[in-house]
Amino acid sequence: MKTNRTNYHTHSYFCDGKEAPEAYVKEALRLGFKALGFSSHAPVLFDNKYSIQPGKLKDYCIAIEQLKEQYQDQIDIFLALEADYIPSKTHDFEFFREQCPLDYLIGSIHLVAHPRSGELWYIDGGEPGFWDQGFKEVFGSDIRAAVKAFFWQTNAMIEDGKPEILGHFDKVKMHNKNRFFRQDEAWYQKLINESLTLIKEKNTLLEINTRGLYKGRYDELFPAIPVLQKAQEMGIPLMLNTDAHHPSELLGYYSESIEQLKIAGIKELWHLSKTAWYSKSLS
Ligand SMILES: [Zn+2]
Ligand SMILES: [Zn+2]
Repeated sequence: MKTNRTNYHTHSYFCDGKEAPEAYVKEALRLGFKALGFSSHAPVLFDNKYSIQPGKLKDYCIAIEQLKEQYQDQIDIFLALEADYIPSKTHDFEFFREQCPLDYLIGSIHLVAHPRSGELWYIDGGEPGFWDQGFKEVFGSDIRAAVKAFFWQTNAMIEDGKPEILGHFDKVKMHNKNRFFRQDEAWYQKLINESLTLIKEKNTLLEINTRGLYKGRYDELFPAIPVLQKAQEMGIPLMLNTDAHHPSELLGYYSESIEQLKIAGIKELWHLSKTAWYSKSLS
């Protein structure tokens, strides 16, 4: 049975996801999804285990394009990338748009570069101890400087890369858990507000990412509800994704999030069809 379910942020075995893309399509069909977007981590200019490996980008694009065609009567499939933005260590987003017929790009920050030394602080995955060690070593234990660098890098990515979607905005908080800063502190609020102003100006879609919740890494959505309420007030379009790395995660904390969003007064979410982005009421 068809539902209104959609998910535009998924990772298959072309990057750090677990299964072949078709396994996600089959599961999405079983769950009644209307649309499914593939967003493997785009190749970066340094060795790593999480992104599409050099030379494999074309294979990935061809594989997703084939699925698009094969399942065109059953589900809308989209070809996308989740691209990192690290000055001098990642490709321009235009490079990917030239290489592949992408339907959209998700811009996400997983590694924060020190503005002068260029040293990297890995804010995603791993353990809190690793996060702590990173900001202490790279930013000399100056948490404000570290968090500011995260948001400035986010802003630069929105300006330079013009991603259609901003992925897991505010993920920098994940391993903090109120230990080094609180989200209601004025300096932090100012950073959030500056980024939201830019997101609005550039008409970027703001992703609501559920992964922290179903992986038990954080007890809130990315971004937090007050940020989403503010974004809605400003007229920023919102979309809900689970950032699935396995077909079993396609609905990870999806229905629970919708309930939570409704209670918080969020009125609509945005989706992509074969022809256009559109909004749909949550009620
Ligand atoms: Zn990500
Ligand atoms: Zn992702």
